[in-house]
Amino acid sequence: MPNVQKYWEKFFKISKEIALYYGFESIETPVLESADLFKKGIGLNTNVIEREMYTLKTKGGDSLALRPELTGGIARAYIENGFSNQPQPVKFFHCGPVFRHEAPQAGRYRAFHQADFDVFGDDDPVVDAQVVQVICATLNELGIKNFSVHINSIGDKNCWAKYRDELKMYYRNKVGHLCQNCKKRFKENPLRILDCKEEECAVLKASAPNSVDYLDKICHDHFKLVLEFLDELNIPYTLDPYVVRGLDYYTRTVFEVIPENVSGSQISLAGGGRYDYLIQQLGGKPTPAMGGSFGIERVVNEMRRREIKVSNAKPRTRLFIAQLGDLAKKKSLRLFEEFRKNNIYISESFGRDSVKAQLRVADRMGVDLALIIGQKEALDDSVILREMQTGVQEVIPSDKIINEVKKRLKKIHPRQPANNQDI
Ligand SMILES: [Zn+2]
Ligand SMILES: [Zn+2]
Repeated sequence: MPNVQKYWEKFFKISKEIALYYGFESIETPVLESADLFKKGIGLNTNVIEREMYTLKTKGGDSLALRPELTGGIARAYIENGFSNQPQPVKFFHCGPVFRHEAPQAGRYRAFHQADFDVFGDDDPVVDAQVVQVICATLNELGIKNFSVHINSIGDKNCWAKYRDELKMYYRNKVGHLCQNCKKRFKENPLRILDCKEEECAVLKASAPNSVDYLDKICHDHFKLVLEFLDELNIPYTLDPYVVRGLDYYTRTVFEVIPENVSGSQISLAGGGRYDYLIQQLGGKPTPAMGGSFGIERVVNEMRRREIKVSNAKPRTRLFIAQLGDLAKKKSLRLFEEFRKNNIYISESFGRDSVKAQLRVADRMGVDLALIIGQKEALDDSVILREMQTGVQEVIPSDKIINEVKKRLKKIHPRQPANNQDI
């Protein structure tokens, strides 16, 4: 909606500046992708694939999906465009709409937007910290100061067998208390039970074994370094064993950024993690990767909740053009465009025919100067220039009006608008 656009624009401006500074390049990928791309990466037993992804069959019989997240498309683009042959790491920044069929609730939409920072081809823990850093820096620059990074490590293939066994042990005599989906997950992928939102499953996970306790030495040391880098960057974090992220492609570091002082369910503003196997799963060479993404609607809502001041992208107009009669209207239209070419914002109310009504609009907008072209001025090729504050008027030849306006706008102290509403 128009009244929130300034927050969006601020988000795009800040996130992009930070992305460029940290060496991320912009990328755009299609909204529709092969459904298999997401099934392979995200995993079949996840909420996203089981319940939330919108899929469709084309007339040619292809199964497509509206992307439920951005990473799949970016990973596909990385593989298909031969980015693995370029110097690594390759860093991408991507903003765009994503789609999930979720239960409607405040702040949650079925078509929403994400901004992603992804780094391919580097498994150094410094990359993990840097992705968390760009996300925190963006929030800070937007004025969202109090938040916490909830972070965890879920290990890699070498740690999973042991952890999976532990989870199975733990849930073995509790299967009867799990929801239908989790009964299936217990057999196929017990880790996914941990992100089930059903109440009966949430209660049970409270005393489930934590993945950090089952990391092998390499994953343990990796995670330790990530945390040391975060310490160095003064990023506030909380070790949180319940952050497991609901997608199968994650390995090792996973995180969510949660605003402080929010009552009720904690809604994360951003999240992400490492996905070292995804590129290979999708048919590329083994390529470690790390990414993080913002839910842009959530960030915008948080900015509004905190009443963060954001100035309007559109400058306030200080000039208004009023006209009377068809010839004057024609001349006004042309003059309006002349002012644009001279970078001077000007407002109009061409649909109103009474000069009095038009000047009333001008007054409400709080402009400093009004131009009036009446029937006489239209014939004479002149314009009445009116200083709104004093009501003093002067007739100026049309070809001199732009320079005269420039001079006056410099001289006159701007009025405050009578109210802040756009008219
Ligand atoms: Zn490991
Ligand atoms: Zn469940």
